[in-house]
Amino acid sequence: MPLQLPATLSPSKVASFKDCALAFKFSAIDRLPEPPSIAATRGTLVHLALQHLFGLPSAERTMEAALHCLERATTELRPDPEFCGLELDGEGEDQFLAEAEQLVRRYFELEDPTTIHPIGIELMLEARIGDLRLRGIIDRLELDADGELVVTDYKTGRAPVERYEQGRLGGVHFYSFLCEELLGRRPARVQLLYLADPLAIITVPTDQSTRGLRTKVRAIWSAVELACEREDFRPKPGPLCTWCSFQDRCPAFGGSATTSAPAKAEPRALAAL
Ligand code: SF4
Repeated sequence: MPLQLPATLSPSKVASFKDCALAFKFSAIDRLPEPPSIAATRGTLVHLALQHLFGLPSAERTMEAALHCLERATTELRPDPEFCGLELDGEGEDQFLAEAEQLVRRYFELEDPTTIHPIGIELMLEARIGDLRLRGIIDRLELDADGELVVTDYKTGRAPVERYEQGRLGGVHFYSFLCEELLGRRPARVQLLYLADPLAIITVPTDQSTRGLRTKVRAIWSAVELACEREDFRPKPGPLCTWCSFQDRCPAFGGSATTSAPAKAEPRALAAL
């Protein structure tokens, strides 16, 4: 019997399917729980602190206020299973919080938040391409000095080396596409703010990037449909396996998950992505 298709596609699901179809199946279709990770929870905490910062009037968005926002975010996140599940001891928690503080401080090297005019923070957008529902949460949507839309995504991991930069922009192009579909305006700029480095990777969406995004998303969705129909999700061993929560189930690591059907070539459109 064909597997149940996921209800929506998001940038993280697109990236996950491209990275490893089997890990995508475990996460997006089987919905297996994954233990929290320090990196992901630190990201959640810093995003929440910046969300609180942009809830303040512009003139009050100082470094001191941002550190208060981080304290508030820590208090809010502490009872959450994502935080408790890390089971940090005193020393581990001190290090975790110090690293989060470092990211918040570095954010100020990238921009002056008192000059930003946000119109949406943690904004959930959903649009359709045919029967496919696309969904994404935009960290920050703002207006620039000319009244144009700008999409910003905060990253708390390290920036990619230059040759991988365009690949990492796939998510922000996705958000740009959602804005255009829902608000009727293409953002003038999409940017990834890598807080750890700190580094901003900025791009300008075009007709070509929007067309490319549509083609890519359709190709991914066709490949997901085909994989569900054939119950055929292959493991794709690579560097990401180090952080994969599903190693004990993965045939590439001696696990027993079946991937069914004999190997066939990837759909051509997907292989080219
Ligand atoms: S361990 Fe590697 S190959 Fe296996 S499911 Fe995870 S990412 Fe895919």
